[in-house]
Amino acid sequence: MERTFSMIKPEGVRRGLIGEILSRIERKGYRIVGLKMLQLTPEMAAAHYAEHRGKPFYTELVEHIISGPVVAMVIEGPGAIAGMRRLMGPTNPAEAPPGTIRGDLATLIGENVIHGADSEASAQREIALYFKPEELI
Ligand code: UDP
Ligand code: MG
Repeated sequence: MERTFSMIKPEGVRRGLIGEILSRIERKGYRIVGLKMLQLTPEMAAAHYAEHRGKPFYTELVEHIISGPVVAMVIEGPGAIAGMRRLMGPTNPAEAPPGTIRGDLATLIGENVIHGADSEASAQREIALYFKPEELI
């Protein structure tokens, strides 16, 4: 059993896609063990995207993720880290196949509606950024 971190980005919330995205995760068979809607501060966004600091898209990335409320979640299931990445599809929605969240619901790389941890280490780090242990069921 594995736990991963995922986040519905501001455009996903604005576009009314919370239910659609949660539904896909639940239908897959994963268990949502932590869930909260929140507005990130610039400091939280910098911590979230620390690995991308210095990259050409970093400033836009941080401005975008703080542009409105997001939905943060912890997802549990066998192979959930890689499994959520497959459910999301590739980073660029233009390359994401139909059937994936990004392939079906997004067109732009900067507005790809969902974030997902990319490794065991990222999953643990990101879960700890957003959730206290007692907030997970
Ligand atoms: N991103 C972007 N331009 C790029 C690469 C990434 O705007 O050239 C954005 C994109 O929204 C992506 C986020 O930065 O989701 C984080 O990038 P990462 O490579 O970690 O992709 P992810 O793990 O989200 O698939
Ligand atoms: Mg990433």
